[in-house]
Amino acid sequence: MTFDLIVRGGTLPDGRVADIGIRGDRIVAVEPKIEAAAGQVIYAGGDLVAPPFVDPHFHMDATLSYGLPRVNASGTLLEGISLWGELREIATVEEMVDRAVTYCDWAASMGLLAIRTHVDTTPDHLRGVEAMLEVKRRVAGYIDLQLVAFPQDGLYRAPNGWDNVIRALDMGVDVVGGIPHFERTMEEGAQSLRELARIAAERGLMWDVHCDETDDPMSRHVETMAREVTRHGLGGRAAGSHLTSMHSMDNYYVSKLLPLIAESGMTAIPNPLINITLQGRHDTYPKRRGLTRVKEMQAYGITVGWGQDCVLDPWYSLGTADMLDVAFMGLHVAQMTHPDEMRRCFDMVTVENARIMGLEGYGLAPGCVASLVVLDAGNPTEALRLRPDRLAVVSKGKVIVERQRNDARLAILGRPASVRRRH
Ligand SMILES: [Zn+2]
Repeated sequence: MTFDLIVRGGTLPDGRVADIGIRGDRIVAVEPKIEAAAGQVIYAGGDLVAPPFVDPHFHMDATLSYGLPRVNASGTLLEGISLWGELREIATVEEMVDRAVTYCDWAASMGLLAIRTHVDTTPDHLRGVEAMLEVKRRVAGYIDLQLVAFPQDGLYRAPNGWDNVIRALDMGVDVVGGIPHFERTMEEGAQSLRELARIAAERGLMWDVHCDETDDPMSRHVETMAREVTRHGLGGRAAGSHLTSMHSMDNYYVSKLLPLIAESGMTAIPNPLINITLQGRHDTYPKRRGLTRVKEMQAYGITVGWGQDCVLDPWYSLGTADMLDVAFMGLHVAQMTHPDEMRRCFDMVTVENARIMGLEGYGLAPGCVASLVVLDAGNPTEALRLRPDRLAVVSKGKVIVERQRNDARLAILGRPASVRRRH
């Protein structure tokens, strides 16, 4: 038996040490020792070899636009939406494509190989949709993009909100979106959820809603979304993004809400870098941190994944396309410090996000798509601590990133000549 590529001696996330044999775009063998030749070999002895990182919540039509047309001075969600409203009218298709494809270079270099991106369908010109469909085609050989039809200014609040969502879906956008907390009234928000769930069900599509990205403890759109997911049997095809109102809700009410979410089968996507930055801006002290109830949802068996949301755009002035940054922040804000919880934070940016996106053939087992990342760390928790270099990235059987190990050289008398910070 011969292989196109063998990744030798890596430590898998579950602690096994194994060789991974690849033929074409598939993993065909995962064994302690593969006694065969290969066209290409990656030596990963002692390094963590993981399936690729997955981001289930991003805004690629806005990425790398920080400072255009000017920076967000108040740091609030609402000023970000207002700035974006100006930018989307002046940005050309080419500019959006260029920025997004550049971002995909960053993502590939970090082993981030599947991304779900919300695309603003508010403007009648739908240039963002056109641009992101082009990006999806261009990067398809190495990154899987899912596009969400996202009515940023509201399904009913924007003049042609409803028609433009339908036009975007007809153009080939994959997932139905929504933003009920931005509609004019709680009732119109609820109505938007009923209509969008029906469209997702009728078209057999997935559904991902910016749901209650607010500090309002009385907002009730998560409850309505769970009801519609249950009504239409959307289950794991539906994801609630942000869910930040749950941070501020009354505990008794949450004790009723959590079983309803679990019953529906919907998944949840908090975005810790963004939620910690945008939420609680109207508070003095104590200042709410705006992250949804992650551990509490997990205790109910609800799948929760960490999303990145933004990199260098009107809402967030930082970001690196590193899902370990995202998980690191999530670990801190959600206080997931038990060894099992830290380990789970790594799963939340790999296998759990893959489940949320419904990725086919994801994982490191024979038959899976041959996509993986080699990290300069010994195990998943160490990867979270170090957020280390990606020494190699393989996408669909092809080595797309290689990097020299880059230890610091020490010039301190009596101390080692180099230092790596692995422990
Ligand atoms: Zn978002």
